[in-house]
Amino acid sequence: MIIVIFGPPGCGKGTQSQLISRKYGLKHVSTGDMLRSEIDEQTDFGRTVQAFIAEGKLVPDEVIIGMLMKNFGNTDPNFRGVILDGFPRTIAQADALESNLRCRGRNTDLLIDLQVETQELFNRLLYRGQLSGRIDDNPDTIRQRLQVYEEKTAPVRDYYKEQGKYAYIDGMGEIEDVFKKICDEINHLSPTDS
Ligand code: AMP
Repeated sequence: MIIVIFGPPGCGKGTQSQLISRKYGLKHVSTGDMLRSEIDEQTDFGRTVQAFIAEGKLVPDEVIIGMLMKNFGNTDPNFRGVILDGFPRTIAQADALESNLRCRGRNTDLLIDLQVETQELFNRLLYRGQLSGRIDDNPDTIRQRLQVYEEKTAPVRDYYKEQGKYAYIDGMGEIEDVFKKICDEINHLSPTDS
């Protein structure tokens, strides 16, 4: 099963991915987490990407696609699939993902679109910034990230909608309630889809 969890910053992608990963035995692949661990480890790659994140911009497609594809190949026979969190964020990334999967005779089964009101996104991200000290959870960078989301990332939704691999989920409300709605969608996937 290959699932993309999608939506603006602060919509709950990370939280819901962890729950999905646990329940369905899927590997949680978060490009944001990968980038932050490169920054924490002070690698050359981390130094290259840090400014983009701090400014609320997307890391260039070729850089992020290269990073993901290096980590994506999984020969583990117990590999049941992945939940992709924070990728694809542009149409070019979606194209790269689907052509990589096609080479393995696979494709994305479902994009879960978690939608949350903008004011709520702001509140959640500001609160998270106070707790975690994330460099990009401050008012100016949050505004920039939301704008980048609308311009570059939101079109990815239609890419999967056109293929009938799309589920809208209202992401307002309690974590458990949102999770139940997501599970309903995943449980409806036919076994031949995965
Ligand atoms: P996230 O933790 O998913 O909110 O990602 C934090 C930041 O990492 C984003 O604001 C981008 O700067 C960068 N990033 C994460 N995933 C991607 C991606 N797929 N494409 C480009 N930049 C990314």
